[in-house]
Amino acid sequence: MNHNLAPIIAVARHRLTVDGQGVTTLVAFHGCTLCCQYCLNSQCLRPEGLWRTVTPDELLGEVMIDNLYFLATGGGITFGGGEPAIRSEFISDFCRMAPPEWHYTIETALNVDREHLERLVPHIHEYYIDIKDMNPAIYRRYTGQDNRRVLDNLQWLLQHDGMASRIVVRVPHIPDFNTDEDVQRSRQHLESIGITRIDEFTYERR
Ligand code: SF4
Repeated sequence: MNHNLAPIIAVARHRLTVDGQGVTTLVAFHGCTLCCQYCLNSQCLRPEGLWRTVTPDELLGEVMIDNLYFLATGGGITFGGGEPAIRSEFISDFCRMAPPEWHYTIETALNVDREHLERLVPHIHEYYIDIKDMNPAIYRRYTGQDNRRVLDNLQWLLQHDGMASRIVVRVPHIPDFNTDEDVQRSRQHLESIGITRIDEFTYERR
């Protein structure tokens, strides 16, 4: 039995092409390094939002029920949150035990210590990165944090062979925080460092 416990807010089965390929199960973790103004999953920031804690073995026992769907569609597990990357020890333990044929995706804001990414890179196939805005002042106003660590981590990820094709960077229009021009500047900056898959969308004001 592995006693590495992780706090989770939800497990959602039978998701089809939401992110990642095929049928996926979302495992959403509690806790985040940011405090975004329009957080979509604000329960991940509040103590009462915690659903339960699980070990990698327990989680694997539960998600295994969809093994045949994952194998038939090329799907697997999407780790979300909250900020799943801060649960890197749990995720790497889980992936070591889970079928290697499954597809592993992470939805991350990338504002985490490098050691987490070093643990995740051997296991994660696809990265959905919510970059917020590349402008440090806008980023700070929206998240309460500095974005230097995000940019360093993104550059570091891109140094891995074939990584650019496995990264989708989500660039949001953030009402009251950035403009269309800011979004275009973020896109241009991302393209200049080698990002090819960019998903532009609009946050809902909360
Ligand atoms: S990074 Fe995501 S989960 Fe964390 S506070 Fe921002 S919107 Fe919420």
